[in-house]
Amino acid sequence: MTWGLVGQERAVAALTGALAAGRAAHAYLFVGPERVGKHTLALKLAQALNCEGEEPPCDGCEPCRRIAAGIHADVQTVTVEEAEEDERRKGIHVSQIRELQRVTSLKPFQGRSRVVIIDPADEMNVSAQNAFLKTLEEPPPQVVFVLVTADESRLLPTIRSRCRRLELRLPSVADVETALRERDVDEEQARLLARLSAGRIGWALEVAADPSLLERRQESLSQAGALASMSVAQRLELAERLAQEYRRRPEALLAQLEAWRDWWRDVLVVQAGAEDGVANVDRLPDLRRDAARLPRDEVAFFVRALQEARRYLGENAQPRLLMETLLLEAPREAPRRAAVRPQQARR
Ligand SMILES: [Zn+2]
Repeated sequence: MTWGLVGQERAVAALTGALAAGRAAHAYLFVGPERVGKHTLALKLAQALNCEGEEPPCDGCEPCRRIAAGIHADVQTVTVEEAEEDERRKGIHVSQIRELQRVTSLKPFQGRSRVVIIDPADEMNVSAQNAFLKTLEEPPPQVVFVLVTADESRLLPTIRSRCRRLELRLPSVADVETALRERDVDEEQARLLARLSAGRIGWALEVAADPSLLERRQESLSQAGALASMSVAQRLELAERLAQEYRRRPEALLAQLEAWRDWWRDVLVVQAGAEDGVANVDRLPDLRRDAARLPRDEVAFFVRALQEARRYLGENAQPRLLMETLLLEAPREAPRRAAVRPQQARR
């Protein structure tokens, strides 16, 4: 299969079927968890629409190669622009949508179809979404829009209803392992990464190419486990350090929050008696320790808080306040009565 996406046979079949019948939609909504290949699928669709080979997307013709290299004049991605020094990320602006409207009113330069990928589409603020809605109401000819999102609830229902929705799912761990093996990752590493990835193929490929990412993740996991025994003062101090880190390297903190979330979700899985479902298979003894010593409702609450923190950081929240609140919500060990008990027992 030239589309080459791991575990997305259904979405690919829906697209190839529509293309073969000459019924491509003018706007698509690709929905699915982070790192499963939504953006890759959007690029493949752009290739299929502009390919000059026998079996589109052929990957070998000039348009296919230009699109893969990100230098095709008719294929563009609209995303969150890099923040200025002190400015916070503020999502995709209405000015970016206006520019997009200007460009899409022109005929394609090189190919048959202009393809505009908006990724992540849910980062469009309200005025950007309203402006974009006007485009969807009167779509320009020879343009296909692909909206990519992990959270469609943040898009206006009027936008969603005008797009053809395709859902991408997490591929199975076995699918990821096979894909890694096919890319010459050695057997043991492939098994571990597939398991840790929990289906996020993009993450698995990135870590296979750069093992230092795995080391950093292991550090984050150790810290996740240590949170529960930190005092309030230690938590506040850590919150301040993380908020500073976020100003310098936002993506590092987001990766850390993701690792923490995966850790605490694993603790929850162990508490539910489903150890087979644990992602961090290499850390099972530590997970069991946390599962045994921490209240389940606090763990569940913290997993949700971590998920939300990732999103709030992308909005206008103040990082320090957000991290303080988050860390104070981390599960804590039950007050130690054990120190008193031995004496009582001796009586
Ligand atoms: Zn081609």
